[in-house]
Amino acid sequence: MMSCGSGSRPGSSPRMRARPTFQDTLPAPAQPLPRFSVEIPPPDLSRWLAGNCGIPGVIHLEASRPGPHVVLTALIHGNEYAGATVLDTLLRDDVRPARGRLSLIFANLDAFARFDASNPVASRFVDEDMNRLWCRQVLNGPRHSTELDRARAILPVIESADILMDLHSMLWPGTPLILAGGAESGRRLSTMVGDPPLIVSDHGHRAGPRLIDFERFSAPGGRAAACLLEAGVHWDAGTVTATEQAVHALLRHSGLLPPDRLPPTLPPRHMMVTDIVTAHTPRFRFVKPFRGGEIIRRRGTLLAQDGPDEIRTPYNDCMLVMPNLRPGRGQTALRLAMAVPDPAIRDGA
Ligand SMILES: [Zn+2]
Repeated sequence: MMSCGSGSRPGSSPRMRARPTFQDTLPAPAQPLPRFSVEIPPPDLSRWLAGNCGIPGVIHLEASRPGPHVVLTALIHGNEYAGATVLDTLLRDDVRPARGRLSLIFANLDAFARFDASNPVASRFVDEDMNRLWCRQVLNGPRHSTELDRARAILPVIESADILMDLHSMLWPGTPLILAGGAESGRRLSTMVGDPPLIVSDHGHRAGPRLIDFERFSAPGGRAAACLLEAGVHWDAGTVTATEQAVHALLRHSGLLPPDRLPPTLPPRHMMVTDIVTAHTPRFRFVKPFRGGEIIRRRGTLLAQDGPDEIRTPYNDCMLVMPNLRPGRGQTALRLAMAVPDPAIRDGA
């Protein structure tokens, strides 16, 4: 079972303490606050709140033909509702799996219920991040919180999933991507979906395992597979479209929907996260507002300053993944990734 993701990597570190005599000409300007533009309204989920299987907010749809159990989770983060909008549309369109079983989960309904467009970042969670709780020790432990109790409620569905896609979006504008986690099964699933075509393998957050890191999906040799979609910036119409495409690709490739659309034309690009940069101070500042997906050609390029430390690219052709332009102390500020050749992915390297 994976622990609380290390993301560590042998070799040089992106973080180094600036020498007292260091005279870098690049300033560390304060990043402007983003303009939070809520372009899409929160979906009306009232019809699905009761669920149809004894668990609130969970809808099971079963085909008569056997097939995999596919689970789609939305609202693991209560304010990221593009995924919930897509699940709501599937249900209103009366989606029926051609085979197997489809479970649609509206996860953190308590946080979602608090969504307020005038402060849209506040409803990510009620008590704690629901995507840092997914290990037995925590789930079976004595602690209670809104998110932990909800995670326990939906656990029976998660435990029976063969394929899971967890639908998320980003606070900062960035290239849509699929996080494949650290397991070979997740990489294979992400490659099969292939839309968006940027696939990033990683080993999670230091703060705790995500749903895709749960042992069902990450145990060596396990057959169940999970991936996490980061479909674009929160509350943007384009993010709903990207989510819709990824969900349809997943349902087609798993045989739950007929193959009625053309496959994506871009071949998937595989990246492996080598470093997770956590903000050590409240003064973490990028040298410019990166948006993620950039490939920095030269090793040693200054990316950010974190109090007395400099963050530099540790190798050539280093991709920046989902920079958090205003990280709080202890939060993930950036991931760094290198290209992985396809055969290595297939061989599980
Ligand atoms: Zn999220």
